[in-house]
Amino acid sequence: MTVLALDIGGTKFAVARVDAAGELLDRAEHPVGQAPTATLRGLVADFAGPGLTGVGIGSAGPIDAAAGTVSPINIPRWRGYRLVAAVQRLVPGVPVTLAGDAQCMALGEWWRGGHDCGSLLGVVVSTGVGGGLVIDGRPWTGRTGNAGHIGHVIVDLDGEACVCGARGCLETVAGGPSMVRWALAQGWTLAPATGRPDARALAAAARGGAPIPLAAFRRAAGALATAVLNTATVLDVRDVVIGGGVAAAGDLLLDPLRAAIAARAGMPHLRDLRVSSTTLERDAGLYGAAALALLASGMTLRPTP
Ligand SMILES: [Zn+2]
Repeated sequence: MTVLALDIGGTKFAVARVDAAGELLDRAEHPVGQAPTATLRGLVADFAGPGLTGVGIGSAGPIDAAAGTVSPINIPRWRGYRLVAAVQRLVPGVPVTLAGDAQCMALGEWWRGGHDCGSLLGVVVSTGVGGGLVIDGRPWTGRTGNAGHIGHVIVDLDGEACVCGARGCLETVAGGPSMVRWALAQGWTLAPATGRPDARALAAAARGGAPIPLAAFRRAAGALATAVLNTATVLDVRDVVIGGGVAAAGDLLLDPLRAAIAARAGMPHLRDLRVSSTTLERDAGLYGAAALALLASGMTLRPTP
């Protein structure tokens, strides 16, 4: 049994063939470019073949899993794009399953990330903040397919307006551009010759001991801790896996995050939360997309590091 996994990101598409044991047989990726539909067609054509039993897709959002459509913010040509139907035409007769990219990251980490747990909260800290849930070995995608959107958990009742229409969402504090904006407002400056003041530069400055960038990471970690604790309070999950571009700063984010969780955890079931970094990194979404397809075919999956 071999499934095709697709990871539809805002800047690149990745594809892999994965077997039922969770071995990644081959993979490729391609920049989205000016013609996303042609890019998709080319990648699928290269990898589809006889013996394919399913296709799983993790896509940047917003997505509508019920309608099978996606509108990735960084791919303006795709607004309400009928992704599931398009892939079905390329692999006739093969079932196609779609979920959000962060949901696939969570599922991939649960399956092949070596975290050895039944349930898991995955958090992607990048330009935006996304997330996904695995509950008792199944992706928990919710009524509309949008469960796990931890970036829009409200962490500050009087906070900034968020792109989603609410106020004080986690993303307005812990998203990369939000962290940079806050640091600049506090007086952080970057010598023009050293490049643009982006999340990467902020992390470099924090690593160098600059107080405002360090404070920006502590502030983001504090907001993340609030959202993670609130989620864990409701769902009683123990394992939290953090990935994404901002999380690539590693201990800069994870150390204050763990400290804030330890300082604020109240109920006993929150005292042994395990916060880890992604172990699959860029392939987490591909493993998760493959798991989606295998689960859709009726297989039962267990974590296999
Ligand atoms: Zn929001």
